[in-house]
Amino acid sequence: MAVAAELVVKNARLLVTMDDRRREIAGGWISVTGGRVQAMGEAGSEPEAVRVIDASGCLVTPGLINTHHHIYQNLTRSFPPATQHNLFGWLSTLYPIWANIDEEASYLAAWIGFAELALGGCTTTMDHMYVHPAGAGDLITAEITAAKELGMRFHATRGSMSRSKKDGGLPPDEVVQDNDTILAESERLVGAHHDPTSHAMVQVALAPCSPFSVTPDLMKATAALAERLDVRLHTHLAEDVDEDTYCLDVYGCRPLEYFEDVGWGSDRSWVAHCVYPNAAEIAKMAEWGTGVAHCPSSNQMIGAGLAPIREFRDAGVPVGLGCDGSSSTDSASLWMETRNALLLGRLRGGPEAMQAREALEIATLGGAQCLGREGVLGLLAPGTAADIVVWGLEGVQFAGAWSDPVEALLRCGPNAAKYTIIAGKVVVDDGRLVSPDVEDRLTRHEAVSRRLQGLALS
Ligand SMILES: [Zn+2]
Repeated sequence: MAVAAELVVKNARLLVTMDDRRREIAGGWISVTGGRVQAMGEAGSEPEAVRVIDASGCLVTPGLINTHHHIYQNLTRSFPPATQHNLFGWLSTLYPIWANIDEEASYLAAWIGFAELALGGCTTTMDHMYVHPAGAGDLITAEITAAKELGMRFHATRGSMSRSKKDGGLPPDEVVQDNDTILAESERLVGAHHDPTSHAMVQVALAPCSPFSVTPDLMKATAALAERLDVRLHTHLAEDVDEDTYCLDVYGCRPLEYFEDVGWGSDRSWVAHCVYPNAAEIAKMAEWGTGVAHCPSSNQMIGAGLAPIREFRDAGVPVGLGCDGSSSTDSASLWMETRNALLLGRLRGGPEAMQAREALEIATLGGAQCLGREGVLGLLAPGTAADIVVWGLEGVQFAGAWSDPVEALLRCGPNAAKYTIIAGKVVVDDGRLVSPDVEDRLTRHEAVSRRLQGLALS
């Protein structure tokens, strides 16, 4: 007799695999052992399992993947002096506050951020941590500690800023570092935490912040270091019209030309936002294989504009989703980002420009491409990572949605995960975080957040 699986999710109203054949199995089941998908099939052929989750009435999908975030920003959410501004004004208001973060702040922000993401159906997230004030400690190892505690699959990125106001950049002096410090820390963190194996729970990428906060020398040196260490590269690019103006004034070229000049045009890179590339630049990105982290909520909240997702996809540019920083979007639900990608795609290109299945594909397969995890994350097939979300499609908000559960998932709602399973472990169980520590972490997070914002404790 076959050995029992560790976990079986069965009776799915629909199991969406996102595999090469885009199989969708009505009434399907999926079994998991050793953190990997073991098998799947139609009702009646389920194996024995240590734990069985009954997904009756539910949609089962691969876990959603977050390709752009700044988790520490959940310490300064909806902060009034910053809420009125465009990107540059918003950043300039918040940099001095972020100059006071430390390891405890980074750990608590990450813990709460990962919990929020898991509740929203996210099973893999990156984080772009680019503020490293002097004496703040090891902010990235603090995040990795939180990811391990909660069981989140995590792509940490060693962000950096080296061009402060005195050198014509946007950030103040106290949050930037010199190139030698940045490169040495980048190499140390890759050595300490990066797992290059196919089913890794922690990887590390290198991520200078943006054209207006980093020097070209650092961009070039970081690309060379990433090549030597064989890790990925990430940055913000072409987010805002001010960035076009800045690059033309300072570098004498457009952001994408600058990106190419400093040696980043490659399939090792994925970039956040990318709202303002022209047609020739989109074609180049496709040629390079450079991915885009589409941030639909953030682009709306900051008022940055409508990214050319249809053109990217048609050209073959990998596109994933990002919730972006918790104080630009002010929320971190990948369900909501997927819905917003659907809505913005249709707003920009008409009702035929984006459907729910394509939005879901961006949130899963596209995210895996951006993070260099194709074939392991973002799809459910024997041997892939057992990162699975069970979505309830019940209650008043789903009444009447009987014909197509995938369209229903994103057109109806709001919704959150009923079960979030990461590497075969149940992290969200019947809508609740499994970890008992959430109240403690929330209390500690509030104390740090109030201190940063200059508010008294409640
Ligand atoms: Zn960002």
